[in-house]
Amino acid sequence: MSAIAGLLLHLPRSGDDVVISDVCYAGVPEFAHEFLPRLGIEVSFVDSSDTAEVAAAMRSTTKVVYVESPANPVLRVSDIEALARIAHDVRAALVVDSTVATPAATHPHALGADHVVHSLTKYLGGHGDALGGAVLGRRSDLAELRKSSGVHLGGAMSPHSAYLIMRGLDTFALRIAAHSANAMALASHFAHHPRIERVNYPGLPTHPQHGLAARQMRCFSGLMSIVLRGGEDAVRSVVRRLRLFEYAVSLGRQRSLVFHIPISGIQRHSRRLDPKHLEHYRALAGEGVVRISVGLEDAEELCADWTRAFD
Ligand SMILES: *Cc1c(COP(=O)(O)O)cnc(C)c1O
Repeated sequence: MSAIAGLLLHLPRSGDDVVISDVCYAGVPEFAHEFLPRLGIEVSFVDSSDTAEVAAAMRSTTKVVYVESPANPVLRVSDIEALARIAHDVRAALVVDSTVATPAATHPHALGADHVVHSLTKYLGGHGDALGGAVLGRRSDLAELRKSSGVHLGGAMSPHSAYLIMRGLDTFALRIAAHSANAMALASHFAHHPRIERVNYPGLPTHPQHGLAARQMRCFSGLMSIVLRGGEDAVRSVVRRLRLFEYAVSLGRQRSLVFHIPISGIQRHSRRLDPKHLEHYRALAGEGVVRISVGLEDAEELCADWTRAFD
């Protein structure tokens, strides 16, 4: 978040405006709502999977288009190449949070993004034991950002976290292949499950943007979300019975995690979706999703854990 906040404070000036995807890591819209308007920077939210809507939001004052793909927690995919063209038409910078995709799946710079953001806390560090973030971009853009964000905002990583993340990076390629394979196995296991209303995973042919995901991603990573039948009661009883999936926030670590994200919490705390965007979100999330970060355990055991929890 320090990397993202540094970038969003660095790029626009008073009188500019920033267009942000209405579905992304909750800290980003919270930060944007809270801080940017105080600095005279206007913030608007769009469905970034709808390129016509993004194009219609562009103004001569738009300096930043910020998207996440796939977007946490409903795994909505945005067309980075198309969004880069739309942003560049008004000389805005396209920022892509590629934390969920990881560099194994997508290279947003090659598709036209100006800045790429990664939470190193997730798949790149990979063990859920160190916080860090990265902004990747042109050397000339980053020198100034490094000073404003690293020095003036103090967003510096501790040496121990840097050590843990560097060590995690050595096994990243092997881990992400295993995360992706396990997630594909679990998503397929869920696909026709009578207790599950919907599975959001870009690797499934039933994902509404599977074609785009297959073009833009070399693998589909390890994050998915499901909508359970039976509402909150069903969520509570199933999630409590899981043994291999720890109930916790965060994602991308070696062990599996599960977390319930009800739509009411999102509306209260972070996104405040307008009626049209709320309807788009409900189509993917019902009244809320159970987000699953699939770890490196044995795929059959992971599937069996859910089967037992449903019994
Ligand atoms: C976790 C996360 C962040 C924030 O990262 P921290 O390292 O927790 O500050 C940003 N974007 C995405 C997509 C994330 O999952």
